[in-house]
Amino acid sequence: MVLVAVNPATGERIEEIEETDIGKVQTFYENSRRAFSRWSGLSLDERLGYFRRLKKVMAEAMDEIAKTVSLDTGKVPTDALVSDVMPTIESIEFVLKHVKKSLSPQKVKTPLLLFGKTSCVEYMPRGVVLVISPWNYPLQLAMVPAVSALAGGNTVILKPSEVTPLVGKLIESLFQRAGFPEHVLQVAHGGKEVGSAFVNGKPDYIFFTGSVKTGKIIQKAAAEHLIPTTLELGGKDPFIVFADANLERAAKGAVWAAFTNCGQVCMSAERIFVEKSVFPEFVERLKEETRSLVLGQGEDADIGSMTFPGQKEIVREHVLDALARGAKLETGEHPDRWTEDSLFVKPMVMTNVPLDAKIMKEETFGPVLPVVPFETEEEAVKLANDTEYGLNASVWSNDLERARRVAAKLVSGAVVINDAVISVANPHLPFGGAKNSGIGRYHGKDGLRIFCHEKALVIDRGRLKREVQWYPYKGTYPLFLRLFQSYFGERKNWFAFFQSFLRLMKRN
Ligand code: NAD
Repeated sequence: MVLVAVNPATGERIEEIEETDIGKVQTFYENSRRAFSRWSGLSLDERLGYFRRLKKVMAEAMDEIAKTVSLDTGKVPTDALVSDVMPTIESIEFVLKHVKKSLSPQKVKTPLLLFGKTSCVEYMPRGVVLVISPWNYPLQLAMVPAVSALAGGNTVILKPSEVTPLVGKLIESLFQRAGFPEHVLQVAHGGKEVGSAFVNGKPDYIFFTGSVKTGKIIQKAAAEHLIPTTLELGGKDPFIVFADANLERAAKGAVWAAFTNCGQVCMSAERIFVEKSVFPEFVERLKEETRSLVLGQGEDADIGSMTFPGQKEIVREHVLDALARGAKLETGEHPDRWTEDSLFVKPMVMTNVPLDAKIMKEETFGPVLPVVPFETEEEAVKLANDTEYGLNASVWSNDLERARRVAAKLVSGAVVINDAVISVANPHLPFGGAKNSGIGRYHGKDGLRIFCHEKALVIDRGRLKREVQWYPYKGTYPLFLRLFQSYFGERKNWFAFFQSFLRLMKRN
């Protein structure tokens, strides 16, 4: 079986990539476990040497990587470079700078009742991490979790999307060029059957990015063997514009946030809510900005093609559903006029969209922007939260106090004020969703720690014969009762505390 890499912008067949034979799943795991015993035994400094080389290889091959991502997805090279390649290299930089501090043992306080001991948290790699990634940011969404897992001493099996197999192959080659030891990162090529076979191969952790539907299937399979997971799923992100916002900036921001990567972004602006008093003006601005966008695949184009033919059909279905319910297409083309054998779709702005239309409820994942008016701050919050998702949100106002107040009420993994999407580009911030947008967070120091067992360590110098709470219990109950009452009472009674403590100690 082969995967055929096709340039979605032209339909041109680029390459055939051999699919991983499901019969080889166990061999992948055996190789990974063998590599784990060596890789996890390296010091952090030794591991960091490999990441330094990976960063150098990627910095040198930046143009090649961006062009490959563009070819495989149909996105314009600028989108590939800015939103896929840059955040990936930034995350390697984060590992280089912060992994030591994040994964070194952390000393923590020891309560008085554990007198004489010290405590710390240690981070131990989990083993083999399975990373399953989607096609929309095929480099970043595969490499960032893979790099984070590897940094902690895990080995990784990566199952990239079958829709973008060229990037999967490129990732394999980048790790080889950086000289990573054999089988530390293995790439399994294929679709859902291959992904499912690897989930059932019992990895020690699953990091999944993709749709809610697949996320639920994976979570069920993982539960069977109690395999911990992180799920990064879909979004239907709100973009709230108050009348006092910088409207020119907000309109330009909305158009970028809605149409970057042709709208195939889990955290794109998918529902725009605009204060009623500026609604007509704002819609005009959106139309003007949208009409100025250039479609194509060259370096100067703004919007590339869609990546996955099936997604174009979902966009068509959502747009037709909204139109049938009375929505107005302000700019863009009616689906009846779309070119059938092309994945280029002109960006659309829609108004008069009923709140129960598919385009307001389900993930459209395409270049269409519904705009809805609101009258009060409370209504804006209610509209924004009226979704099963909660990945990202954006609030626009010159009154930062109000913007912060609204942000605090949004049930969302991230909120950006007077900008959009870019929280994902700061590796110091946690990334992940609320509600159906996922389970867990990554990025930042916790994004390195999730791939490790947190081990609680208590150290006693071992000089006493016994501890006060050990056997025999005879005569200890009243002493413990006095000790705890004196310690936990509203006012601490240190005299009673030390007296009981010394009596307990004397029994040693
Ligand atoms: P998808 O769920 O169809 O596929 C994602 C990956 O899962 C692919 O590699 C696919 O081969 C694999 N897969 C599919 N079925 C499987 C199964 N039964 N067992 C194991 N693996 C299986 O998603 P997609 O269409 O590739 O990506 C688009 C979706 O991803 C959108 O919903 C989008 O919102 C979401 N997404 C989320 C984030 C995030 O960080 N939250 C980022 C990007 C995309």
